[in-house]
Amino acid sequence: MVNRFRLSPLLLLCSAALSLQALPSPQVLAQQAMGHQNLTFLNVHVKPAKGHEKDQATALDNITQAARGQAVRRSAYENAPGGTTTLKAQMLYGLLRIADKYRLRVTDLAGGSHEPNSRHYLGVAFDADTINGVRVSKNNPSYAEVMRLCRLYGATEILGPGKAGHSYHIHCAWPKP
Ligand SMILES: [Zn+2]
Repeated sequence: MVNRFRLSPLLLLCSAALSLQALPSPQVLAQQAMGHQNLTFLNVHVKPAKGHEKDQATALDNITQAARGQAVRRSAYENAPGGTTTLKAQMLYGLLRIADKYRLRVTDLAGGSHEPNSRHYLGVAFDADTINGVRVSKNNPSYAEVMRLCRLYGATEILGPGKAGHSYHIHCAWPKP
């Protein structure tokens, strides 16, 4: 019995490591995300700088680029740095598992203008502005649960109603790669 208790943390660590290694590639996960019935990816930036509404870095552009196995484009206005990055598997996997339970409209992945040095620009963050068809706000019945699921699936920067700049969308970001 004692040995079993001593072993169990090690076994847990091993299984956690294995499950991380077992994640499909970002390309496969992006394909699954595009086909997921509970995920919609916006083809325009919600608060764009004028002239940058459709800049090949919208959420739909980014998930399409990743599903093709390509680098994804970043926006190049306001704080956005331009250039490209890749969507990371941990973020895509978390998004998929949340979508198994909630219908989400994703407004930005790597594109859009966010804080300087935002994790969006590294391909490890998503924003969503509706949950089950209801706009995110402090009155949305599901936003807290979706934020809790982000944390459960490994996100370490989770913002939503009650936080400055996030009254009407949630932001879930995974550790910087
Ligand atoms: Zn965000």
